[in-house]
Amino acid sequence: DEARRQNSRVVTYQADAYADPSLNLALMSEMRRGLHAGDLSLHYQSKVSTADGEVHGVEALIRWKHPSRGNIPPDSFIGIAEETGNIRELTEWTLARALEDRATLSAAGHDVIVSVNISGRLLADRSFCDHVQAMVASRDHGLCLEITETAVIENPTAATASIAAFRAAGLKVSIDDYGVGLSSLSYLKMLHADELKIDKSLVVAVAESQRDRLILKSTIDLAHSLGMSVVAEGVETAEVQAALALLGCDAIQGYLISRPVPLTDLTDFLTGWGQNPRRAAVG
Ligand code: C2E
Ligand code: MG
Ligand code: MG
Ligand code: MG
Repeated sequence: DEARRQNSRVVTYQADAYADPSLNLALMSEMRRGLHAGDLSLHYQSKVSTADGEVHGVEALIRWKHPSRGNIPPDSFIGIAEETGNIRELTEWTLARALEDRATLSAAGHDVIVSVNISGRLLADRSFCDHVQAMVASRDHGLCLEITETAVIENPTAATASIAAFRAAGLKVSIDDYGVGLSSLSYLKMLHADELKIDKSLVVAVAESQRDRLILKSTIDLAHSLGMSVVAEGVETAEVQAALALLGCDAIQGYLISRPVPLTDLTDFLTGWGQNPRRAAVG
């Protein structure tokens, strides 16, 4: 049927990413059209502190509702946007939206840090970095940049310089998906950041093996001694949450707390969080 046909086209895009340049370019022109047509939006997922159970921050995650293909997940177009040079436009759109949404949240009495995912590749783009600094200059922005992708390693000099410049401009910087690459330790040595986000593959493992708990424990201790706070992503069960709290993890994020939701739902969620039974379980 039609739904299945649309579904399989999305899967085709995913499987063929980078393989067929003409298909990628077609997808990118649809993405740019979608940006202007309002088909792309941001959902927000809360990060909860294990110390006091409060939501101190939320992460913006991009969503694309294609008019005929339905939802296209970020993993199937972010990589293509990086390859084709469209990531800058997409990221600047995301940052502008996130800043607006943060102002809306703030006006509703919710002072949270808003995190935006940034492709490591953009850190080598001087004019992008200048643009970001100009965007946040002289305003109470409350923005954190989650740096993904080991592409940082390709140009460590540019990446470290950009990160230092961002932090000097008052932006927080988070190292995302920590523990999936091979170069994790050199990464930590090189990048001076405010936050370390443990990848969900490592997070899930803490409920299963003592070795993984030991590795995570020493990672958390190391991050703390380097002045970083530690957030675990992909927390789905109370068991994992309890294990993470014992290891000294500062904050958790995952379906156990909330799925990523549109801004209006986020406002409701934050308003009701004090009375939410999940809060008592965490804080
Ligand atoms: P990420 O930044 O590591 O985000 C975490 C992903 O895990 C998100 O997938 C989120 O929806 C999902 N997730 C959250 N909690 C749970 C959980 O408890 N269990 C499981 N199984 N999954 C959970 P999503 O939204 O599909 O995003 C995938 C990736 O796409 C992100 O990974 C990020 O690298 C990238 N991405 C998303 N939005 C943007 C954006 O605006 N710009 C850039 N450059 N990348 C983005
Ligand atoms: Mg992230
Ligand atoms: Mg992540
Ligand atoms: Mg991830």
